[in-house]
Amino acid sequence: MKKAFLSIPRKEAGYRPVIERINDYSEVEQTLNNEDRILQASRCMDCGVPFCHWACPLGNLMPEYQDVLHKGKWQEAYYILTSTNNFPEFTGRVCPALCEKSCVLALTNEAVTIRENEAAVTEHAFLEGYVKPCPPATRTGKKVAVVGSGPAGLAAADMLNRQGHTVVVYEKDKKPGGLLRFGIPDFKLNKEIIDRRLALLEAEGITFKCDTTVGKELKVKQLMDEYDAVCLCIGAGQPRDLALEGRSLKGVHFALELLRQQNQLVAGMDIPKEERISAKGKQVVVIGGGDTGSDCVGTSNRQKAAKVTQIEIMPQPPVGYNDATPWPMYPQILKTSSSHLEGCERRWSLATKRFLGENGQLIGVEVAEVEWSVSAEGKMEMKETGKTEIIPADLVLLSMGFVHPVHEGLLDKLGVAYDARGNVKAEKPNQSSVAKVFVAGDVTLGASLVVRAIDSGRRAAEAIGTFLK
Ligand SMILES: Cc1cc2nc3c(=O)[nH]c(=O)nc-3n(C[C@H](O)[C@H](O)[C@H](O)COP(=O)(O)OP(=O)(O)OC[C@H]3O[C@@H](n4cnc5c(N)ncnc54)[C@H](O)[C@@H]3O)c2cc1C
Ligand code: SF4
Repeated sequence: MKKAFLSIPRKEAGYRPVIERINDYSEVEQTLNNEDRILQASRCMDCGVPFCHWACPLGNLMPEYQDVLHKGKWQEAYYILTSTNNFPEFTGRVCPALCEKSCVLALTNEAVTIRENEAAVTEHAFLEGYVKPCPPATRTGKKVAVVGSGPAGLAAADMLNRQGHTVVVYEKDKKPGGLLRFGIPDFKLNKEIIDRRLALLEAEGITFKCDTTVGKELKVKQLMDEYDAVCLCIGAGQPRDLALEGRSLKGVHFALELLRQQNQLVAGMDIPKEERISAKGKQVVVIGGGDTGSDCVGTSNRQKAAKVTQIEIMPQPPVGYNDATPWPMYPQILKTSSSHLEGCERRWSLATKRFLGENGQLIGVEVAEVEWSVSAEGKMEMKETGKTEIIPADLVLLSMGFVHPVHEGLLDKLGVAYDARGNVKAEKPNQSSVAKVFVAGDVTLGASLVVRAIDSGRRAAEAIGTFLK
């Protein structure tokens, strides 16, 4: 087959119809047939200097695997893909596809569907049965504890196990997966996809010990005595709060409280009725215009909210193109997610002033319109215009990002240094201030992305491997 970047248009698999998808929690994204997928791979120009490599934190070998995929060599494509990415089934679903924004084709045409191709190659591999457990041939006799089982912990565990070390992953939740399982909604990532990978990792010899908080159920002394190295991958779970009048009213919650509960419910876990947060029949205001906010929009609509409004303090980003972030940079432009398309009013340049209540229950949010300008030093400056308004609300979801890890004294007990924000300082990459304690993922990067967490886990495993030698 000939290379087809000029004759074949980009074709995305698209989402299931809104009317269908808002009535369930199944994945919203569809798949192309194999023939179309191969055609999409054939659009890759195999550039001399591929910027997609540069943009992908994992350095995935896009041109190489598009090349074999367009020749119909699915299995080879899978091996190339997994030579740099431990879990393409996760990134193929939830990655914001940093690579596609830097695809050379995006300059004059439309980028190759790299993320979708990644998911397709991986699903094909599982379907055809050539993803098999591959335990290491020999063991080194060294023991490594990985604390936290999000994408960083899983990637670190996988790479350490491949090196032949004996790996035990400790997780304080009931099941492994971190934010993949209890943050990201099922409609973006079906949890069977995580279980499928965990079964492989276990078959390869990794032990998972859930319901075990390191620092509590497993004491720090025991951890340090028992293991030759420790990899801390505890995430950055502390959400940013809004300490305003009315914050303690019934109906004001962190985004993750709702998202976590909904993921637990889909998984068949029980949540006592009095603790349940529900958007059903409610006027929902999501504060924060980012991805977590968008997940709250999708979840609220599935719970049958009466109305969903998402507000953001920053001005609306430009649509389509932003001079400030030219190619090949990641463009700061308006992002419309599948959840936004399901019904939501999006408003910008609104600062939250206070939460209003009646008899302890939230009834509205007072917001003030703001204007943004750039100071002489190039800093964004905000000024209130004087216009205020009350948005009726009986459920507010705070989605303004995450500030630091929830370590509950663990870092202090380990003697690991961390910065003023609470993120672990990595003096050398992935190396904490304590000799045998390494770090990976959001705990050291700050709240980031799945692809960066995987990359960080891989790097930590490499550093631990060198240390253990
Ligand atoms: C709602 C939401 C949606 C997101 N959507 C996307 C997306 O679409 N695409 C994307 O790329 N990124 C997304 N992200 C970001 C992404 O999920 C994170 O960047 C990533 O999960 C970080 O991985 P991690 O392994 O560092 O930490 P986490 O995934 O946070 O995992 C940390 C784990 O450590 C465990 N732990 C903590 N302390 C202890 C302890 N003392 N003992 C034992 N275990 C402990 C926690 O229980 C948790 O399981 C989203 C984040 C959120 C909150
Ligand atoms: S992991 Fe993300 S950035 Fe890297 S190739 Fe896949 S979709 Fe692109």
